[in-house]
Amino acid sequence: MHELSLAGGILSMVEEAAAREAFKRVVQLHLEVGRLAAVEVPALRFALASLAPGTVLDGAEVLIDEPGAIAECPGCGQTVDIAAHGDPCPRCGAWGLVPRGGDALRVVDLQVL
Ligand SMILES: [Zn+2]
Repeated sequence: MHELSLAGGILSMVEEAAAREAFKRVVQLHLEVGRLAAVEVPALRFALASLAPGTVLDGAEVLIDEPGAIAECPGCGQTVDIAAHGDPCPRCGAWGLVPRGGDALRVVDLQVL
C-alpha cells in the first residue's frame, strides 16, 4: 500500500524534526495532499494512525487539506481547474493540459509539545 510508505516518510520527517527541535510529542499534524497526488486520504489517515503508537505522532490530531489543482491549457491559453491528470480542457476540450501544482504531499504545520 502506497499510503503506508507515504505515512512512513511523513513519520520519519516528523521524527527528524523532533530530534532537531527537541520536542517530545506532536499535538497536531497539518498536511496538504494535492488532489492530483494520487493519495487516498482515508488510507493515509489509517496508515498514520497505525504507525503513530509509540512515536512522536502518538495521539496527534491529523488535519489534511486537499487543495484543488490548476493547469494551463495549450489550446486556449487559460488557467483552468482540473480534477484529474489526463483530463481535457473544460473550456475548449484540448488535451495536453500542463498541471501547475496539486500533486504535492507536504507537511504544512506541526504543533508540538
Ligand atoms: Zn483550453
